[in-house]
Amino acid sequence: MKYVVGFPRIGEKRELKFALEKYWNKEITFSELEEVAKDIRSKAFKYQKEAGIDLISVNDFSYYDNMIDTIVMLGCEPKEYSDLEGIDRYFAMARGDADHKALPMTKWLNTNYHYFVPQIERGQEFGCNLDKIIKEYAEAKAHGIASPKINIIGPVTFLAFSRGRSGNDPLDEIEGALEAYREALQIISRLDSRVVVQFEEPALVQDPSDKILKALKMSYERLSKVSDNIDIFVTTYFEHSKEATEILLDTDIRGLGLDFVYGSKNVDSVESIKKSGKILVAGVIDGRNIWVADLEKKREFLESLEFDPHRLYISTSCSLLHVPYTLKYEERMNADIKSWLSFALEKLQELDLLDAMYRNKELSQRQKELLERNIKANETRRSSLKIHNRSVQDRLKNLSLSDMQRDTEASERLKIQHELLAYPTLPTTTIGSFPQTPEVRKCRREFKEGIISEEEYKSKIREFIDHCIEVQERVGLDILVHGEFERNDMVEYFGQMLEGVTFSENGWVQSYGSRCVKPPIIYGDVSRPESMTVEWIVYAQSKTLKIMKGMLTGPVTMLNWSFVRDDLPKEQVYKQMALAIADEVADLQEAGIKIIQVDEAAFKEGYPLRKENKREYERIAVESFKIATAVAKAQTQIHTHMCYSDFNDIMEAIDAMDADVISIETARNGNRILEAFRNYNYKKEVGAGVYDIHSPRIPSVEELEKEIEDRLSVLPASQLWINPDCGLKTRKWEETEAALANMVEATKNIRMRLFRL
Ligand code: GLN
Ligand code: ZN
Repeated sequence: MKYVVGFPRIGEKRELKFALEKYWNKEITFSELEEVAKDIRSKAFKYQKEAGIDLISVNDFSYYDNMIDTIVMLGCEPKEYSDLEGIDRYFAMARGDADHKALPMTKWLNTNYHYFVPQIERGQEFGCNLDKIIKEYAEAKAHGIASPKINIIGPVTFLAFSRGRSGNDPLDEIEGALEAYREALQIISRLDSRVVVQFEEPALVQDPSDKILKALKMSYERLSKVSDNIDIFVTTYFEHSKEATEILLDTDIRGLGLDFVYGSKNVDSVESIKKSGKILVAGVIDGRNIWVADLEKKREFLESLEFDPHRLYISTSCSLLHVPYTLKYEERMNADIKSWLSFALEKLQELDLLDAMYRNKELSQRQKELLERNIKANETRRSSLKIHNRSVQDRLKNLSLSDMQRDTEASERLKIQHELLAYPTLPTTTIGSFPQTPEVRKCRREFKEGIISEEEYKSKIREFIDHCIEVQERVGLDILVHGEFERNDMVEYFGQMLEGVTFSENGWVQSYGSRCVKPPIIYGDVSRPESMTVEWIVYAQSKTLKIMKGMLTGPVTMLNWSFVRDDLPKEQVYKQMALAIADEVADLQEAGIKIIQVDEAAFKEGYPLRKENKREYERIAVESFKIATAVAKAQTQIHTHMCYSDFNDIMEAIDAMDADVISIETARNGNRILEAFRNYNYKKEVGAGVYDIHSPRIPSVEELEKEIEDRLSVLPASQLWINPDCGLKTRKWEETEAALANMVEATKNIRMRLFRL
C-alpha cells in the first residue's frame, strides 16, 4: 500500500493564495473562492490517484491553517469571536479584522509552516462540527477514491500546541476534548462501511513529558474503541517517537506512521511493532526536502527492516505541504540541477516506483524509464562538477585555528575597539534595513526586468542610500547603516550571488495562510565568486564621517531558510557557507569598514526537536558563525542580530559565538529577556531593542527613556547599545524618522542623567 501523509493545498500555481487575496479584497464572492478550493482539492485527488497512491487524504486542505480547522471541528473558538460565525469567524481567527485580533501564530515544530495557537480555557467546552470533513469526504468519493483517509490533528498535539487562557494547562482539558473527538469518530464511522482516519501527533517527537504520554495512552485507548469499522493510524514526523510508540502499540489502533528520514532512531521501535501485529507506515520519501530519492538505497533500507510486506505501507515522511508542488513549470532551471530535484508531484511517482521495487512487482514501461532516470540523476549528482568544487573542499579540510576563531580575546578586543571607534556610552544604531518604499521595489523590479540599465539602477540605489544617510545624520544616530535597498530578502540576496545556490521559479511553500516562501536551493559546494556588498557599503561610508556598519546574513540563517543538499553532512554545508561569508567580511574589512554585522535571525530555528541533539547543533552553528567572523581583526567590531525573545536556554551558545555586540528583540518582553544576559553574567555588549518595529506607532521620548532605564536596571551602561527591535523595512519613512529621533533624544537625556551633565 502506498500512503501519503498529506498534500500541498496552496495550488499548483498558488491558486489558493490569489483567490484568498481576491476574496479578502472583495473582488470575488465566497462561492467563487469555494470553487477555486474545490478545484485544488480535485487536482490533488487526481494526481495522487494517477500516481497509484492508495491512501489519499481528505481534510488536508485548509483555507488557512489546519489547527484553525481543528478549532472549528472541536467547537472551541475563543469567545471573543462569538459575535461572528462561519467563514467570517474563521478568517477573523486567522487574520483579525477591525474588531478582532487574530490568534497568535507560531512555527509548526521546526518547519517554516506557521500554525495558529488555540486558546483553551480552564474547563473549556467543546463541540463537534464535521461539516468540512463530510463535504471533502464526499468529494473524494465522487472522484472515485474508494477509501479516502481522513486527516485530523490528534488530541494530544492539539492540546499540547494550545495555550491556556489563564495560566491553565490545556492538557488538563483532555477529557472534554476526547469526548468531542469520540463524537467526531462516531459520525465518521457512519460515512462508509470502513473508514480510515489518520491522527497526526507530531507533538510526540519532542521529548514528551509524562503528562503528554499519559494523555496519549488515555486518548488512543478510548478512540480506538469508538467504532469497529474505523482504522486508526497515528502518525508522527520530523524525529523519532520512541516513548510514544511503545504506548500506542498497547492500544487498538491499526497502524503507526513513523519518519525514517528525520527520525532514524525509529528503527529501534520496529521489532516491537512487528510483534504487535500492527501496520507500519514507513515514512521513507522525504516530505520536507526536495532531492530525488536514491530509490535503490530506500529499497535496501525497507528490506533491512524484515517486516511482513503486507503490513508495511510505504509513505512520505510527513505531509508534502512542506515542499513545492511540482517541477513542471521550471523552465529556466539548469537541466542537471532540475534532474536532481523532486517536488510533491514527482515524489508521488517515486513512492509508487519504490513500492513496486520493494514488492518485486514487474515494472511498467513508465516505471522502468523513471527508474533509469532516477539512477542516472543520482549518479550525475555524485560526480557533477557543478556540485563538487575541489578548492572549496580543500579549504574546509585545511582550516587552521586562526580561521576558526579570532586572535584576541573579547574583553581585549572591546577595549581596542572603544579606543578606536570612540562611540559614546549607550551608542545608538539600527538593525540594518530602512523603509522599502514602492519606489525602492519598483527600481529593483525594473532592473531585474531589464527596463532600466545597471547604471541607472545603481545610481538610483545610491540616491536611496544618500537619503537614508541624511535621515540618520539628522536624527543623530551614532552608528549608521546603508539601508539595504538593493535587497529583496536577506537570504535571497546573498543566495543569488553564491556559487552552489540556485532558485526555482515556482517552488513556493506555504508559510502561513496565503503567504508562501521560495527558499533558495543549496545544491553544490558553496563559494563566493566576488564581493556581494562591498560596493554599497563603501559608497555609503564615503558619504558620512560617522561609522558605517556593514551588513551581512550569517551562515546559520542562510542554511536554516534554504533547502539544503542532502548528499553531504550538513555540518560541511554550514561551514562552506561560513567560508563564503568570511570572504565578504575580509573584503569589507580590507575596504576600511570598521563594524560588520552578521545577522543570525534564524539561529534558533535550527534547534533540533530532541534535547539529545541540541549540543551537536549548537557546536556546528557556533563554529560556523565563528568561521564566518574569525577573519575580523581585533579592531573590527563584529555585531550579530537575532530577532526573537527566548534566550534563556541558549545563552552558552550565544556567548560562544563570540560576537562583540549582539542586538536582540526586547521591546515586547522588556527586561525578562535581558535578564538572561545578566543571569548568565554576559560580558560583551548587547543592543537592546527599545521599541517594536512591527507597529506603526511612534513611541514618545518619555516612554523610550523609561524603556532605556529599565534596561539599565539589568545591564550596566557600559554594555548597552540602544536600537529598535529589528530592521525597519516594513515601516514608512515618517514613522521611522520620528521614532528614531525620539530614540536618540531619549538616549541623550539618559546620558545626561547618568553623567549629571
Ligand atoms: N539586517 C536585517 C534587516 O534589518 C535583519 C532582518 C532580520 O532580523 N530578520 O532587515
Ligand atoms: Zn530581526
